[in-house]
Amino acid sequence: MFTPYVCGSCFTDNENKKQPLYYIFRPQKIKSPLHPIKQNAALCYYTGMIDLHTHSTASDGLYSPTQLVELAVSRGLTALALTDHDTVHGIAEAETAARSGPITFIPGIELHIEWHPGEFHLLGLGLTGISQKLTEIISHLEQGRKSRNQEVIQRMKDDGFPVSEEEITELYPDTIIGRPHIAAYLAGKQIVKTRQKAFDLYLAQGRPYYIERKGAQLTEAIEAIVSSGGVPVLAHPLSLYLSWSRLDSFFAEIKEQGIAGIEAWHPGARAAECERLEKLAREHGFFVTAGSDFHGEQIRPDRKLGYTAGGAAISDRFFTQELNPYLAVRTEAKH
Ligand SMILES: [Zn+2]
Ligand SMILES: [Zn+2]
Repeated sequence: MFTPYVCGSCFTDNENKKQPLYYIFRPQKIKSPLHPIKQNAALCYYTGMIDLHTHSTASDGLYSPTQLVELAVSRGLTALALTDHDTVHGIAEAETAARSGPITFIPGIELHIEWHPGEFHLLGLGLTGISQKLTEIISHLEQGRKSRNQEVIQRMKDDGFPVSEEEITELYPDTIIGRPHIAAYLAGKQIVKTRQKAFDLYLAQGRPYYIERKGAQLTEAIEAIVSSGGVPVLAHPLSLYLSWSRLDSFFAEIKEQGIAGIEAWHPGARAAECERLEKLAREHGFFVTAGSDFHGEQIRPDRKLGYTAGGAAISDRFFTQELNPYLAVRTEAKH
C-alpha cells in the first residue's frame, strides 16, 4: 500500500496556489495519460487522485462506508463519491467518516434504469438530500429486487437446491441484496466453486435462474436525482450495447431529457473507447467524469480504487474542472 503525505515543497500550479496538495510516495512512475503532472522532487508525484464511482456494503461492495473512506484517504484520494446501487443507506456513515479526513466526500447513488438489452445505470452525484421522489424510486426498486430474489430462490428450491431466503437475509443484514449476494451465498454453501461460477451457470442472463428485474423510468429517475440536489450522469455508456452511431443520437436525446454528464472513463471499456466517449460527450455539451466502479478487490479484482480504464489513475480534473463547477452552479441557483 502507498503511504500518502503532504508534500511541503510542491504546490499545485492552478487556482489553489496556497494549498499544498497530497502527494504519494510511489515505487514506480505513473504511466497515465490522465495524470501527466510530475513535480520537482524525485519521488514526489502529484496525485490529486479521485474516484467518482464506488460501492460499499450498503449495496454489493466489500467495504463498509467507513472502511471505503479510510481506504480512499490511505491511498491519497482527494475526492470520493459513494454510488451504491439503488440505495442511499451508506451515505450518512461515509459522510461522518470523511469529515475528519483530508478528502471531499460526494454523496451519490447509481440507479437501475429500465432498458433492453444492455444495462442502463444512472449516477446521481452530489446529492444534498433525499427527495420524496427519490425515496419512492428506491423503495420501488428495492421491492423489485426482493421479489426477484424470492423468485430465484423459489425456483432453485423447486429444482432441489438446498437454499433459503432467510439464510441470505441473515448473512447480509443492512444490505440491498442482489444477485452478487446470492452468488456469494451459493459459493459459501459450495453449490458452486466461485461466485463467478454462480453467474456463469445459474444467474447470468440466459442462464436457468436469471430473472428480469424492472428498472426505474429514465425521466422519473432524472427528476428524483435533480430534486435531491444531485446531478444526473450516465454511467459506463458502453453497457447500453449501442453502436457508436446510435450512441451519438442517444446522447442528444438524453441531453434533452436532462442528463448533464457522461462517465466516459470506466474500467469496463478500453482507454481508446473512453477517449472516443469523452470526445462524443463534449460534442454534445456534457461534462465528463471518470470512475473505478470499485467494489472491493475480492469482488471485482479488475477494479482498483482511484483507477479507471487502462489502469489510469483518475485525475482530480474530473472533479475540479468537470463535476465541481456543475455542483457549484447548482448551489448558486438555489440561493
Ligand atoms: Zn453500473
Ligand atoms: Zn457501479
